[in-house]
Amino acid sequence: MSELLIAGGTVVRTAGSQVADVLVTGERIEAVGPGLAARVEGVRTIDAGGLLVLPGVIDVHTHTRLPSDAEPDRFLRDSIAAAFGGTTTFLAFDNPGTGASEVDRPLVDAVADWRARTEGESAVDYGLSMVLTADRVARVAELPAVVYAGVPTVKAFMVYDFGVDDEALRAALVILRRAGGMLQVHCENRAMLERRTAELLAAGNVEPRCHAESRPPEVEAAGTEHAMRLAADADAPVYAVHLSCREALRSVQEAKAAGVPVFAETCPHYLTLDASRYEAPPGEAVRYVISPPLREALHRDALWEGLADGSLDLVATDHVPDRLAVEKANWRQSFDRISNGAPGIETLLTLVYSEGVARGRIGLERMVDLLSTTPARLFGLGRKGAIERGRDADIVLFDPSARRAIRQADLHHTSDYTLYEGMEVTGAVRSVFVRGGEVVRDGRFVGSRGFGRFQERGGPMPPALVHPGA
Ligand code: MN
Ligand code: MN
Repeated sequence: MSELLIAGGTVVRTAGSQVADVLVTGERIEAVGPGLAARVEGVRTIDAGGLLVLPGVIDVHTHTRLPSDAEPDRFLRDSIAAAFGGTTTFLAFDNPGTGASEVDRPLVDAVADWRARTEGESAVDYGLSMVLTADRVARVAELPAVVYAGVPTVKAFMVYDFGVDDEALRAALVILRRAGGMLQVHCENRAMLERRTAELLAAGNVEPRCHAESRPPEVEAAGTEHAMRLAADADAPVYAVHLSCREALRSVQEAKAAGVPVFAETCPHYLTLDASRYEAPPGEAVRYVISPPLREALHRDALWEGLADGSLDLVATDHVPDRLAVEKANWRQSFDRISNGAPGIETLLTLVYSEGVARGRIGLERMVDLLSTTPARLFGLGRKGAIERGRDADIVLFDPSARRAIRQADLHHTSDYTLYEGMEVTGAVRSVFVRGGEVVRDGRFVGSRGFGRFQERGGPMPPALVHPGA
């Protein structure tokens, strides 16, 4: 069995950091501690002196595209981008239009279809979260089978034409709770959003910047508050995706204080950018047409505080590899017809390290918790998420002193732009291992198509509700 020693780096775990060696045997971490180098012989050794040894990042919110005849490498290329960014596992959604199945398929068959379409493609490990769309609501009773198929997280939307009503949300919450799964909710109030959209369009305000006006913080806050109350009423766990504003954060904090098992993520763009971006000319402002939209700077500060104090549980990207030249090319029509989303799969660790740790907003250990350990725990990836004996050897060697600027020209994702063009950042990913296999070496891709494995995720979910250590 192949062995590998990562020697002399600073190993970061949620409980603390220490200079130590990491011994990898096969796919797993065999041992962690100082002085291992002296006790092994003939093992390939990598000098990690001066580097951070981090668990691979787990990005639980992506919309990577399936391979198609026209674009056979799309899933692969975004998975390679993930690898370059230090993400060793990502979860994707089978959203309408980008999923694998026609609507009239049993949900477990939809899972099988998605697996078949992605099998042998990814360079890093990956998994699926189901989307409960309006046209799948009649199949809500099938959700336990989806959970048992290794897909214990299911997302529902309160808005968009595929969004679902309260009855479906409540049914999904209860059914998933019983099956050991967890509902993820895109929280926005439909009526409030639709009224604002209609008023803007009626007044001839169609430019991309109006997207942000149509969905201000109160629209998200109303949706988030509602989701928290539905979960409390159903006595079920709920997970708010892409939380972006202070008011929604307050709803999460109140629900947590009341003992409701609620969890919330935010995204790098809300932590690093603000609404001033919409003042750019429309052809540029379209880059920032994402939902929720970018907020005023005061929200950004509140989100960092929420990450530091535990109100927010993790950071994920909401990666959408839309291209200005393709999916967003229709921006002259009206803001409500522009595809929502922006790329981010490659820049997660860099941004959270640079803007969070290097700026003193969170500690290194908290970063590892937010990007690896908690995502593994909440999303049923029990073998991943920490540099510990017995876990998968998903390891990132990170240079904390590197300085560089983020450039689209240097990225590998399948989008044609980055939200962070020209942003100066501290830190750089040097090498990345997935289950002991090297996928990035000194900044070069050395992995292969299909090395990544579909993760049948476990339960009961979320493990946070179970006795610690169970
Ligand atoms: Mn969403
Ligand atoms: Mn999303």
